[in-house]
Amino acid sequence: MKKEATHYCKFCKEPLPPSTKEKRGSYCDLNCYRAQQKIYMRTYRKKHLGLLREKQKSRYVECQEMIEGMKKGPCVLCGGSFAGEAMTFMHRPDETKVCEVERAFAVLGGKTQILAEISKCDLVCRNCRKIV
Ligand SMILES: [Zn+2]
Ligand SMILES: [Zn+2]
Repeated sequence: MKKEATHYCKFCKEPLPPSTKEKRGSYCDLNCYRAQQKIYMRTYRKKHLGLLREKQKSRYVECQEMIEGMKKGPCVLCGGSFAGEAMTFMHRPDETKVCEVERAFAVLGGKTQILAEISKCDLVCRNCRKIV
């Protein structure tokens, strides 16, 4: 037979009398249970939000990198090749523009949707874009 170890309240760390343990699980009473639950929820929410933010952030970085990666190539108007920050996507006149590619992550959120938006665009340099 397994020897029953002494249990302690998860909140106030007081040893639990065996009868209490039966009634309230790991707490001496409902007050201890509620107090611990409150702390638990707070920590959980904090951790959960943090993770969510991290996930969102890494997705954003991933999409930005994808967009930047597609900015390599000559401008369709002047044929010049420039650094990524000098290049931009311009929607072809016959395409339905949902949003600027640079804002696509915020508006569309997904890689597939961003790629679809990019496919409606020509890669141009910022100089030509100003002229057009
Ligand atoms: Zn307690
Ligand atoms: Zn150009």
